[in-house]
This record gives sequence, structure tokens and C-alpha cells, in this order.
Amino acid sequence: MSERSYGSSNVSCKCGKQARLKCSWTNENPGRRFYSCEDYKKIRHGRHGCDFFLWEDPPVCPRAMVVVPGLLRNIREKEKRISSLNENIKEKDIQIASLKMKLSVVVVVSLSIALFLLR
Ligand SMILES: [Zn+2]
Repeated sequence: MSERSYGSSNVSCKCGKQARLKCSWTNENPGRRFYSCEDYKKIRHGRHGCDFFLWEDPPVCPRAMVVVPGLLRNIREKEKRISSLNENIKEKDIQIASLKMKLSVVVVVSLSIALFLLR
């Protein structure tokens, strides 16, 4: 399950540990919060753990199940595009710095020639 942790809570799980409030980002439960034990992942990875799981929010309405994943996809695509554009800007900044260096050399050489010819 795709999820984001919101830290600890006042909900105790059946093993006695404090349950963690997390947020699901699956297509079926986008943005729906739930409690689970910090040992819950151990079950998912085939080891012995705690299976405590409790939804905090009511089920997501069918329309949100369609709309929210699309919006999230859109955001991820925009973030990728921004990242790519930022890389392009970095490359252009390096090219600009290199061109400025070359230009300063040309200016110094040109001035030197001009001063030599004016003597
Ligand atoms: Zn537990």
C-alpha cells in the first residue's frame, strides 16, 4: 500500500504499542487515513508481526476514486517536468559561465590589440 506516515497517535494496537496514523494513496483509497501498528510491515514482508489495522476515515466515494488518482498522476508528471527543466537550467548556467569566460578573454585580447595599434 502506498502510504505516508503522520506519526504517532492515541490509538493503541492490540499488541500494546501505539498505532501510527498513516495516509493511503492507493487508487482505491486515495487520501484515506488509517491506523496501523509499527510492526505491521513485518507481516507484509513475510515475517511475524502485528496485524492491527483500523481505518480513521470513511470509505472514499466512487468519484474521488476516479478523480484523485488522476490529479496525483498529473502532479507527478508536472514534478518530473519541473525537475527536467531545472536540470536544463543548470546546464544552461554552466554554458553561460563558460561563454562569459570566453567573452572576457576576447575583450582583453581585443583591447590589447587596440592599444598596440594606437601606439
Ligand atoms: Zn501492534
